[in-house]
Amino acid sequence: MPIPLDARKKPTSVKIHVTTGQGVDVTWSDGHASHYDFPYLRDHCPCALCNDEREKKTKAGGNSAALPMFKPRAMAKSATAVGNYAIQIEFSDSHATGIFSFECLREICPCDACARDFRAGTTETKA
Ligand SMILES: [Zn+2]
Ligand SMILES: [Zn+2]
Repeated sequence: MPIPLDARKKPTSVKIHVTTGQGVDVTWSDGHASHYDFPYLRDHCPCALCNDEREKKTKAGGNSAALPMFKPRAMAKSATAVGNYAIQIEFSDSHATGIFSFECLREICPCDACARDFRAGTTETKA
């Protein structure tokens, strides 16, 4: 059975709740609905800087002596549509280089079904 790749990564509705801080809701062409908290999106920011940081963290993983760094809960200051393929979020820590394409958003959907469909077999560590 061919996999309809595009339908799963095309949003039919995108709601970004910046003022209430409730996060982002996306409904997809295949009927699936995803909800993302801003801290979750901050942790999954796809920019080069954050990729680097996550890599470093992965390498440092297993070092139980390291104290967990206190991080204030990330919120969004503003959100902008980038064309019709992505959203850009400025976070409360002034980080704004992350552009979340819808393709990326579907892949990081926090639900189990998407984890299985999009992230099975990858080496990504759990958040
Ligand atoms: Zn980033
Ligand atoms: Zn999902």
